[in-house]
Amino acid sequence: MDEECIFCKIASKKIQTKFIGESENFISFPDKNPKSKGHALVVSKRHYQTALDMPDELYSEMFSIAKKIMAYNIKNNKATGFNLVINNFKSAGQVINHVHLHVIPRYNGKKINVLDI
Ligand code: AMP
Ligand code: ZN
Repeated sequence: MDEECIFCKIASKKIQTKFIGESENFISFPDKNPKSKGHALVVSKRHYQTALDMPDELYSEMFSIAKKIMAYNIKNNKATGFNLVINNFKSAGQVINHVHLHVIPRYNGKKINVLDI
């Protein structure tokens, strides 16, 4: 755990947040500045800076949580699409240096810039 890292604090429940779900190695919670209704983050419980640092065997677990969130938003929020985004390093827009997958539901006719998150 990185003592200064906000996502480590959330993952270890030192900071409370609205909670979407949890698996062995990940936690999921709403993005605090949602780009669309249902915008969620899938965050590793362990501190890895980027997708490069995350062990290969964690990828399928990360994406299966994302799939559940997408299915939920299609069924319950009438999302018509979704984007999955990981920003890696500062030049790609990474602000929180703890790897996280954005799950961004999309809605017919609503334009957003998912590369600027
Ligand atoms: P990035 O590192 O560019 O992928 O962006 C970090 C994302 O984390 C942004 O979309 C923020 O709105 C979001 N964020 C930052 N702090 C929190 C927090 N405490 N709870 C939920 N989302 C957060
Ligand atoms: Zn961290």
